[in-house]
Amino acid sequence: MVDTADVVVVGGGITGLSAALHLRERGIPDVVVLERHTIGAGQSGRAAGVLRGTVRHPTVAEMQLEGQEFFNRFSGRYGFPLGVEQVGYMVVAAGEHRPYVEATLDVATQAGCAVEEIGETQACSLQPGLTGGAGAIYLYEPGGIYVDPMPATHAIMLAAAGAGVRIIDDCPVGKILIDRNRVQGVETNSGVLAAPVVFLATSVWAQPALAALGLNLPVHPHIAQMAFFHPPPGPDFRLQCVLFDARVGLYMRPEGKRLLFVGRREADYFEPNGPPVDPDRYRQTATHAAMVEMRERLGETFPLMRGGFVHRSYACTYDVTPDEMPVLDRLPGTEGLYFALGFSGGGFSSAPWIGKRMAAWMDSGVPPPGIEAFAATRFETGKLIRWANTPAR
Ligand SMILES: Cc1cc2nc3c(=O)[nH]c(=O)nc-3n(C[C@H](O)[C@H](O)[C@H](O)COP(=O)(O)OP(=O)(O)OC[C@H]3O[C@@H](n4cnc5c(N)ncnc54)[C@H](O)[C@@H]3O)c2cc1C
Repeated sequence: MVDTADVVVVGGGITGLSAALHLRERGIPDVVVLERHTIGAGQSGRAAGVLRGTVRHPTVAEMQLEGQEFFNRFSGRYGFPLGVEQVGYMVVAAGEHRPYVEATLDVATQAGCAVEEIGETQACSLQPGLTGGAGAIYLYEPGGIYVDPMPATHAIMLAAAGAGVRIIDDCPVGKILIDRNRVQGVETNSGVLAAPVVFLATSVWAQPALAALGLNLPVHPHIAQMAFFHPPPGPDFRLQCVLFDARVGLYMRPEGKRLLFVGRREADYFEPNGPPVDPDRYRQTATHAAMVEMRERLGETFPLMRGGFVHRSYACTYDVTPDEMPVLDRLPGTEGLYFALGFSGGGFSSAPWIGKRMAAWMDSGVPPPGIEAFAATRFETGKLIRWANTPAR
């Protein structure tokens, strides 16, 4: 176990690894990532891995487009293979969602995303089997991609290690050490690692760690449920693109040759005052009721899928904030402790953008442009981040 470092990153998910890689690229000599289990063991290894610029907030659109570029260029830049699936992203919405669709188009195109409204004939030729119907609206972003999240997280880990970052698995951090208003390092199961800068990148687990230091953020664990659906035997049906059907609140992407990876719009199910969720103890599969509901809804998008079946399912915890935006900040009154959490189900795609900015902030001590909006103080001042228009419900 090393005993000193320039920066300690706590958490071996995509946020911590991206920051570590960017710190080394900025010339910080000794960067260490400490992961309590194995790399990608948290949300990162279980994400859908979708990156699309078709979103309703300009900075999030910027994050997504920078993320697409990062993954598209990754193999050429770092020399590690990373399968990027260039399948495109489609939104299907009902006529009553027109204001939401217009807001999305407006924000995304202004951010530089190539997305356009297409007609039903084109939509059904891009994705055969789709139900149309009177007034249905279709958006298509040809540059929409997805990556398999666990190999992608490990590829970033390899790039970081190749750049000289020390990655230590099986190393839970028990305590962040602070003395005289300055971070001093961390205490782990194998001793103290002293460092002037610590970056807490432990998603849902960061909330109690920060609360113990006096910063009680409204970041709540929420159990997200996913299922992989198999089409019925017979016709050769395949999902051709990443698709969000706002009419039924489902998103989906291809999984392997035949399966559909299907997730719900979790904001519809989040209960801020619901029963407490322990991110270390929860049911690891989707409930029967959730799977039945997903299958019914999927059948509305693709009638053929009414004959399909669940191949397997899983559950994972999101770290949700009141405005569904991350908190990117440092601990007030303490030098050297930075954190990023509250991704609300969108932190995989934003990790390249966030890792780069957090690294710049830790290196220079100056918050880079765009990051102030994600400060923790917004919850006290009531100035929550606003998405353009309101989501289609
Ligand atoms: C089902 C699902 C689908 C998703 N789909 C998408 C998507 O398509 N696009 C998108 O952008 N986002 C998506 N997300 C969200 C995305 O996965 C997360 O926001 C992102 O992975 C968070 O990364 P992270 O590195 O911050 O956290 P994590 O990946 O959770 O990493 C935190 C790490 O910290 C470690 N840790 C915790 N406590 C300690 C400690 N005391 N000491 C040391 N290590 C510790 C944990 O073991 C964990 O590995 C999805 C999430 C889920 C659950």
